[in-house]
Amino acid sequence: MKIACVNCGQKYPEKETPYKCPNCGGLFDLVEPLKFGSIDSSKPGIWRYASSFDLEAQAVSLGEGNTPLIPVNIFGREIFLKCEYSNPSGSFKDRGSTTLVSAMKARGVTEAIEDSSGNAGASFAAYAARAGIRSKVFVPESASGPKRQQIEMYGAELVRVPGPRANAAEAVRKAAESGEVYASHAYLPFNIPGYATCAYEIVEQLGRAPGAVILPAGQGGLLLGMGRGFEAMLNANVIDAVPMLLGVQARECQPLTELFKTGTMENVPDNQTAAEGVRGRSLRAQAVVEITRRSGGRFTSVDEPYILPGRDVLAHLGFYVEPTSALVWRALEENIFSVPDPVVAVLTGSGLKSLI
Ligand SMILES: [Zn+2]
Repeated sequence: MKIACVNCGQKYPEKETPYKCPNCGGLFDLVEPLKFGSIDSSKPGIWRYASSFDLEAQAVSLGEGNTPLIPVNIFGREIFLKCEYSNPSGSFKDRGSTTLVSAMKARGVTEAIEDSSGNAGASFAAYAARAGIRSKVFVPESASGPKRQQIEMYGAELVRVPGPRANAAEAVRKAAESGEVYASHAYLPFNIPGYATCAYEIVEQLGRAPGAVILPAGQGGLLLGMGRGFEAMLNANVIDAVPMLLGVQARECQPLTELFKTGTMENVPDNQTAAEGVRGRSLRAQAVVEITRRSGGRFTSVDEPYILPGRDVLAHLGFYVEPTSALVWRALEENIFSVPDPVVAVLTGSGLKSLI
């Protein structure tokens, strides 16, 4: 992977693992568009697409990817549900953790820190365990529930930081500045080619490009990775057009929807929502909004009262997802007449980790 600072162009170092540009504090990203290459069926899971990663590393894998794409008849249409909750730690994050942790392992990392009490933290802890990397996860003191337990069960050390979520983020940044390796799923771009494999799989499973892909977006990493994956397939003449990308947020916290509509996301509230996985402000918001616009897509937000009922309907169809993933149900209902077939909705995380 060719990685550089988006601000000053500083190349990502070969051996060290800074989480942001040591020169200017800018964000690192991939320098070149992804390239869709040949598929190596002898490799496990998403590593079949390893030629598109451009990553010189031994795979740290738990069998991620190869998730089912299930057709269901809803809202008078056939809709395809991509069951990302079937990944090893129960969410799509595993596609990114496998490439991120593999890159860290290849750089000789033996200890690393992260700061998510959600799916990203659990996924990181799982892959760190698989790699033999000692992991420490900073979480708000209030964090509880199955995801926290999952992080601990993988053997990660949990560092509980008093106060709001921002304090945990601050504590992890301080630790990173004192020399710890911050394997951040939000700052580092190593996970993006991993997320792109979700796009590759969907095209393989459908036998063609979808007309539209509907998915929850918080940081927007999955949307960005999938968008770049579809563009890579377009450039390789594997598909004729990229699908319309429809990113879904919760109305209570909708910076990407605001940025898409108004060009700014200042003063957007970060209120409580059942869709906890899409809270917070995206570090790559501009890139996420740009790729969505380029696809002919848009952002949409779901009002709070519709989130849990959507989860319940999906469960009654046999798909037990967390409330964040259930955003796609209401988004489908509201947008069904303006999205072209075939429509794919991504079910990002398992309901087994949710207490509500
Ligand atoms: Zn820089």
